[in-house]
Amino acid sequence: MKFFRIKGGVHPSHHKSTKDATTVVMGLPSKVVIPMVQHLGAPCQPLVKKGDTVKVGQVIGNTDAFVSAPVHASVSGTVTAVEPRIISGSRPILCVEIKPDGLQELDAIEPPVVTSKEDFLKAVRASGLTGLGGAGFPTHVKLNPPKDAKVDTLIINAAECEPYITSDYRECLENTAGIIEGIEHVLKWTGIPKAFIGIEDNKPDAVELLKKATMSKPNIEVVSLPSIYPQGAEKMLIYALTGRQVPPGKLPADAGCIVLNVTSVAFLANYIKTGMPLIKKRITVDGSAVKYPKNVEVLIGTPVGEVFEFCGGLKEEPGKLIMGGPMMGVALYSLELPVLKNTNALLALSEQEGKLPQETACIRCGRCVRACPMNLLPLEIDRLAKASQFDELNKYNIMDCIECGSCVFACPAKRLIVQSIRLGKDALRRASAKKQA
Ligand code: SF4
Ligand code: SF4
Repeated sequence: MKFFRIKGGVHPSHHKSTKDATTVVMGLPSKVVIPMVQHLGAPCQPLVKKGDTVKVGQVIGNTDAFVSAPVHASVSGTVTAVEPRIISGSRPILCVEIKPDGLQELDAIEPPVVTSKEDFLKAVRASGLTGLGGAGFPTHVKLNPPKDAKVDTLIINAAECEPYITSDYRECLENTAGIIEGIEHVLKWTGIPKAFIGIEDNKPDAVELLKKATMSKPNIEVVSLPSIYPQGAEKMLIYALTGRQVPPGKLPADAGCIVLNVTSVAFLANYIKTGMPLIKKRITVDGSAVKYPKNVEVLIGTPVGEVFEFCGGLKEEPGKLIMGGPMMGVALYSLELPVLKNTNALLALSEQEGKLPQETACIRCGRCVRACPMNLLPLEIDRLAKASQFDELNKYNIMDCIECGSCVFACPAKRLIVQSIRLGKDALRRASAKKQA
């Protein structure tokens, strides 16, 4: 099948050293810390209090808000704290801490009864599923686009274009049948006629397996795409597979598409079969400071320090700890922070690798412009944000920036453009909230 070449993009080293590392299951951690918001949308209210006992799969946080997803206990044990904690950013998030009792006693787990689209959407919400590829958007919301959106294409994101991360790749190898089953559930209950699985051509064995598994399924097509970062960004993938562009400020559904992560659909298949909600996650643990890099199945809420310990610990004092990939991941300030639903990698980089390069003056070479997949002018946005000329930023469509970091990667002057962009976006959001108040 033909594909469309995305504009811009960069070629960082793949560093996929864990690609042959079969998933290993980590045992019980000493505690789990489960934030009441691990998704884009409204936070959940805790349904337990300190001293309560909980079972595996029990709903411990929920809300009536549509754009949200419940959270479940990943261990059986005793609630030791319900309190606000800093997880990422500067705003505290209400968290439930549970000390495992070692029994892993199950709550009343039963497969959902699904006989209609409504049942299906209800089940997806109840499963606690939010995008497992990193963005963390509640999946039942994605699957329920506005009535006037004419969605005709389901896109399964198996691109995994970020360096180091191989967790989706392992899903493709280790659970091919589950992926296809999950796609068929989504197509059946949403009425979408066609699905594409978009995967980069640096994973030939996974491409072959998926093609074999879909040979007799004319409504599911596997498309091998060139390896270029950020091929796996939602808007890029839609363009690469359909040639459609998502208009600025609009959603994939406005271009007739729904995009789901490959591990998300495989999870859905298992949930429909077993009723086991989202309590665990495969994550890639890698980086030059990690003793034994691995792909690990981890219970949600496990402190990241214990995951690194499971991988033999750190060889040296890391220069940088990252949750996610090196391009779009978030720097971690503590080993106590928990693994979240959308954590797909934990990286520990050596002092040398983790060092932030010294910014020098922009030489107006234009490389950032050529690298930008969103047709933006990163050098101008960087200049205006650094000069606090926030009012000017809308003219440069700053809100269209997907924060992929391609401009930073391409920049010979090592300008910290993404930081400027985040600063600028934040200033504009605050100004808009002030106007509305
Ligand atoms: S790549 Fe860097 S140096 Fe070149 S124009 Fe962009 S910001 Fe300036
Ligand atoms: S400006 Fe934004 S979208 Fe463009 S390359 Fe930089 S980070 Fe990516």
